Amino acid sequence: DRWLKIFDRQECMVLEDVQDLKEDYRNEYEILTAQGITSLVAAPLERDGHFCGAIGVDNPPLEQLVNIGPLLRTLGYFLMLSYRRDENEKELNRLSYHDTLTSFYNRNRYIADTDNLRETQSPVGIVYLDVNGLKDINDLRGHAFGDKVLVECARRMRETFEGADFYRIGGDEFVIICREWSKEVFEEKVELLRKNFERDSICRAAVGSRWAEGSDDLSQIIADADARMYEDKKEFYRRSPVSRRYRHQSDEVINLSNPEVLADELGKNHFVVYVQPKVSSADRSAVGAEALIRYQSKEGSMVLPGNFLPLLEEAQTISQVDFFVFEFICSKVKEWADREKQAFPVSVNFSRFSLAQSSFVEQLVKLCDKYGISPGLLEIEITESIRNAPEIDLKELIGKLRQAGFTVALDDFGTEYVNLSLLSSVEFDVLKLDKTMVDDMVNNPKAQAIIESIAGICKKMGIRVVAEGIETEEQMSVLRTCGVETAQGYLFSRPIPVEEYEEKYL
Ligand code: C2E
Ligand code: MG
Ligand code: MG
Repeated sequence: DRWLKIFDRQECMVLEDVQDLKEDYRNEYEILTAQGITSLVAAPLERDGHFCGAIGVDNPPLEQLVNIGPLLRTLGYFLMLSYRRDENEKELNRLSYHDTLTSFYNRNRYIADTDNLRETQSPVGIVYLDVNGLKDINDLRGHAFGDKVLVECARRMRETFEGADFYRIGGDEFVIICREWSKEVFEEKVELLRKNFERDSICRAAVGSRWAEGSDDLSQIIADADARMYEDKKEFYRRSPVSRRYRHQSDEVINLSNPEVLADELGKNHFVVYVQPKVSSADRSAVGAEALIRYQSKEGSMVLPGNFLPLLEEAQTISQVDFFVFEFICSKVKEWADREKQAFPVSVNFSRFSLAQSSFVEQLVKLCDKYGISPGLLEIEITESIRNAPEIDLKELIGKLRQAGFTVALDDFGTEYVNLSLLSSVEFDVLKLDKTMVDDMVNNPKAQAIIESIAGICKKMGIRVVAEGIETEEQMSVLRTCGVETAQGYLFSRPIPVEEYEEKYL
């Protein structure tokens, strides 16, 4: 009860010496000493705003006693965030065992069922069916029509194999698992299904099947059925033109995945660099900016990076854009210096494909030399998820960048499971709190304590904190109380063309 009161106040339990409890809290003293605990720090864990446990360190080094509290609270916050996500995911999985379009079981259920089936030894028949040319149907006649085709295919499967288990395991892929019939009946039904699709000009499908008496490995049976379906499918494609990928993107954007088209478009200045100012939270004066790329489409609209960067990432041509932005900013910084404008640093985002280039830092240095500018005016934003890229030695890379004089920022902090050890193991200069954290903070006032902790830790380590995505005064005032010095967001300015930035802020 004594601890709970402390936890309720969102504070940490700090016990410097268990001996102090001996007189007044005998029970507590005995419980702790029985576990060999001589000192301790513990922080509360909360779920949906309610206390649900604590996380602590036993017998920490005494000189660290005061520092551990904020770290534990931060860790606890992320722990519960991951926990909540994990639970949500499980729940969603449980609820979502059905495909809404065909009302077949979906892929989740397929995975669960085939895992279970692996252990059964009874005979089983597997049908693998893949709708032919669905992409082209979607392209030529629209998605609503494509959906109708899928529903019709599902109807025919159900009609023929009534009583079996039906799964839609991909956009146009279906599996039927049959345990009811003899081999002969099963094969008859497969023939029937095949015929059913043969006579059709729109609803066409490749079908593969396999029967097993039970001792075989289920995954092998399914793989065989799949392979047979694929043979059938190749036959179809031998006769029809291959469909295009990325049917959701406009052709104009899709073409950018071709490195030559991309280079050409960059050369023609169809990519435009916008900047979004960063302001001091004390007086809202500009202290820097972030460069953000846009694509000027032929119809005249500005395409946002979310609509083309994933494609360029997949095509591994994204570095062309990164370096284009970087060089553009170098030229601007030089121009501002020549015109004796105030020198604010500008940050540039780099994808992991750029960072993985062996001569990455050298290339940046070369560009700075070309324009005769100081690397100190350029900040390199590295996204937090980069730590999932095993080919990059983050520590080494950041070390090299900083040695060359660049400032390094860790972008999108708080979007995923955060690796807090990054804070102590990697020496970067700036931490950018992601918009999701800023939003969370207002909905859940206690999360303010977390941001405050992070800001506190960062301050001690000489890391500047920038909060992204500030849209309201309320968010701004909370951030200020938390000790966040720099802010970026629509509240101050959207990303704007460079000319406008020069006019308003320089
Ligand atoms: P980011 O680096 O985290 O950039 C911040 C994004 O948040 C920008 O989106 C910005 O417009 C948006 N934003 C800023 N303030 C607010 C706000 O108050 N409310 C809301 N709702 N949004 C706000 P944008 O420009 O669409 O860029 C998206 C992402 O694309 C960037 O996220 C960055 O990861 C990436 N990106 C942009 N330019 C480049 C580039 O040249 N190279 C690479 N590799 N990535 C880039
Ligand atoms: Mg960024
Ligand atoms: Mg960000």
